[in-house]
Amino acid sequence: MGRRKSKAFAQENQSLVPCSSGTDSVRVEVEDEAMEERGESVSLDDSPLIGADNTSADYYFDSYSHFGIHEEMLKDVVRTKTYQNVIYQNKFLFKNKVVLDVGAGTGILSLFCAKAGAKHVYAVECSQMADMAKEIVQTNGYSDVITVLKGKVEEIELPVARVDVIISEWMGYFLLFENMLNTVLYARDKWLINNGVILPDKALLFLTAIEDAEYKEDKIEFWNDVYGFDMSCIRKQAMAEPLVDTVDPKQIVTSDIMIKMMDISEMTSGDVSFTAPFKLVAERNDFIHAFVAYFNVQFTQCHREISFSTGPRSKVTHWKQTVLYLDEVLTICEDEVIYGNMTVEPNKKNPRDLEITIDYTLNGKRCQVSSRTQHYKMR
Ligand code: SAH
Repeated sequence: MGRRKSKAFAQENQSLVPCSSGTDSVRVEVEDEAMEERGESVSLDDSPLIGADNTSADYYFDSYSHFGIHEEMLKDVVRTKTYQNVIYQNKFLFKNKVVLDVGAGTGILSLFCAKAGAKHVYAVECSQMADMAKEIVQTNGYSDVITVLKGKVEEIELPVARVDVIISEWMGYFLLFENMLNTVLYARDKWLINNGVILPDKALLFLTAIEDAEYKEDKIEFWNDVYGFDMSCIRKQAMAEPLVDTVDPKQIVTSDIMIKMMDISEMTSGDVSFTAPFKLVAERNDFIHAFVAYFNVQFTQCHREISFSTGPRSKVTHWKQTVLYLDEVLTICEDEVIYGNMTVEPNKKNPRDLEITIDYTLNGKRCQVSSRTQHYKMR
């Protein structure tokens, strides 16, 4: 239904690995897993992007070594322009301040900060893009103000003991995919002065529910009968994998609810795992095929608060929305309520993967579902 087809495979040839906050490489890993199952090597040393001295720990970061992912992020105007506005319209936050840019990529945020009058900016980036960032800083005449440090935030040594400001664009799909938030919290606890500024400082996760018969048919039920053969075992996998895609606001059937508010200046890394109750009220008679999650981020320390939303009613961003299909189609009447709980936690084995569990109940006139549980895995 008016859904833009995902560009999941557009970057297939770039040997991207999962984790991006900037591509749909989520699905690329599935290929690696399939290779693993076939007994084929997925050794990182096989990747043309990874140098001989890299270890598997670098696997995650390497997708960011290619410019394609940075191009996508930079061209996401909602994202990049918001950061630019935050910095240029609030020079008082940066003037003569020491700034740490956590995960600098091309160095764009550091350049904004330098231009806004920062005393010094430390731009930390662990992918090969750090080399480009160094060159970009030099080409633009900011070598005196910006120091690019190549390495992981958790491993590098900063030349200063404290910073006044931390800026980062750490958000992943479903807000928390990639788990880079923990890197920001680590930097905050290690280097940020008391009452220092962290940008953004609030992240809010929302949930709503949609009618999505057509697309569910195409993406999920497809596997039930593929040229006359039953491939429904794949249907199970497709169901368990949240789909990153844009949702037409006309598909929204219920109210939206804020599931979780994260206060980046206060929270601890444990707060990345949570269980939150929700209540969604139907705004019309319709069918429900999926829950949809999206997030907003806020920069409340600005002179006038600045924020952006990745929701279906806002201008599309590269994060799109995250669709979680329901096994069962719900027949819901106006004003009826879906009650539920959502649990989100990093996968124990690979903390960059997310485990999402939703249990819900609908006690409606035409449809009764009691305490149904669905598990999703984002990888
Ligand atoms: N700030 C840039 C890039 C944002 S994407 C921009 O706004 O365009 C996030 C970046 O953080 C990626 O380039 C990734 O390689 C880097 N990154 C992720 N985890 C990191 C870590 N632990 N240490 C250093 N860099 C990290």
